[in-house]
Amino acid sequence: MTRNQFDVIVVGARCAGSPTAMLLARRGYRVLVVDRATFPSDTISTHLVHPPGVAALRRWGLLDRLVATGCPPISTYAFDFGPFTIAGAPGTDDTPAAYGPRRTVLDKLLVDAASEAGAEVRERFTVEDVVVEDGRVTGIRGHGTGGDTVTERARVVVGADGRHSRVAKAVAPEQYHDKPPLLAAYYTYWSGLPMDGRFEIYVRPHRGFAAWPTHDDLTVVIAGWPFAEFEANKADIEGNYLKTLELAPPFAESVRAATREARFVGTAVPNFFRKPFGPGWALVGDAGYIKDFITSQGIHDAFRDAELCATALDETLSDVRTFEAAMGEYQVRRDDQVLPMYEFTTQLATLEPPPPELQQLLGAVHGNQDAMDNFARVIAGVLSPAVFFGEDNVRRIMSQAARTTRRATRT
Ligand SMILES: Cc1cc2nc3c(=O)[nH]c(=O)nc-3n(C[C@H](O)[C@H](O)[C@H](O)COP(=O)(O)OP(=O)(O)OC[C@H]3O[C@@H](n4cnc5c(N)ncnc54)[C@H](O)[C@@H]3O)c2cc1C
Repeated sequence: MTRNQFDVIVVGARCAGSPTAMLLARRGYRVLVVDRATFPSDTISTHLVHPPGVAALRRWGLLDRLVATGCPPISTYAFDFGPFTIAGAPGTDDTPAAYGPRRTVLDKLLVDAASEAGAEVRERFTVEDVVVEDGRVTGIRGHGTGGDTVTERARVVVGADGRHSRVAKAVAPEQYHDKPPLLAAYYTYWSGLPMDGRFEIYVRPHRGFAAWPTHDDLTVVIAGWPFAEFEANKADIEGNYLKTLELAPPFAESVRAATREARFVGTAVPNFFRKPFGPGWALVGDAGYIKDFITSQGIHDAFRDAELCATALDETLSDVRTFEAAMGEYQVRRDDQVLPMYEFTTQLATLEPPPPELQQLLGAVHGNQDAMDNFARVIAGVLSPAVFFGEDNVRRIMSQAARTTRRATRT
């Protein structure tokens, strides 16, 4: 008879994997989390963590540790559309600020938290395949630095192994809401470019860029163009990046006075959902749901998946509910929470100029502080686009703007 060594094996130890491992280990399960990387280490990703992600860190008792690393809080989001800027507060009373921690810092903090919770963390361990017996995933096969192939078994294997997920490849889940890559973007870090607690986004036709503060008094600046130009623009990344910043001359001027401290890194990603569970397996984070990074949702989405999936696994491992019922709810709750943002994100990522009705609405939002805060909260993932762009809210914003215009013409 086979005895499972672990209740759960998690493949991948960054934003999705370590919190999943940590939450399960805190509930007393025997958890192994493996990653081919070592920590601290960087990954291709910028790192704005919106207030819902910050709130998750607080719930897990990890926010103080992040704050202690000296990462500056971000309390204003400013969207520069050219003719006007919408600036608002992205958070809630409980969690007013976002943070932009380097992944070297954030991911290490998460890995350490998983380990402290009692999960066994195995770094430099590459998963080659999952073990399947009688149609059910029962473990992983992989190798550490020594090179010998090792098999580990568990009741459930969780793929938290990112967008090229080996676990997903092996189990070939249903994929839905597919959209191709829409945007290509490059980022680097600048010193001497203070942001004063602001996340700034500049939206121009077929171009966009964003900047925010991170550790070590550095500012990350990411600039993007349509995916159709990805190949052509690779020939001169720096030139195209700087040309994009020139679309906002005062910002470009500040960058000319700053110093670039790192090389350019960039990529493009596809957009899709995967069914996140099946016999003996589950998916969290980018392995299960990936979308363009223009709205910076990936980290808090990974945190949300970790919580929903760990709760569902707890219910099934403790025989409260069947695997199908608990994990089915995980999928429904994930999809319901992210679908409006997915549609909004993939629309923004085309970098097409906003359609006339949206331009009108944004014009009406400008200057209305409540509406500007709410717009910031949409991008922050605090308020659903379905609510903000819902008929009632749009009518309210448009009539407030009309009243303001009438008052202004009377005086
Ligand atoms: C350019 C860019 C900018 C972004 N900016 C932001 C942003 O500002 N804010 C935000 O919230 N999100 C951003 N994202 C999205 C964010 O990076 C991801 O959503 C997030 O990293 C997903 O976390 P994850 O844990 O699911 O996957 P990952 O962070 O990709 O981690 C997967 C881990 O699995 C490990 N792994 C993979 N295969 C194996 C294997 N076979 N064996 C062992 N280990 C394996 C890898 O080594 C890796 O450590 C950005 C993404 C990109 C590409």
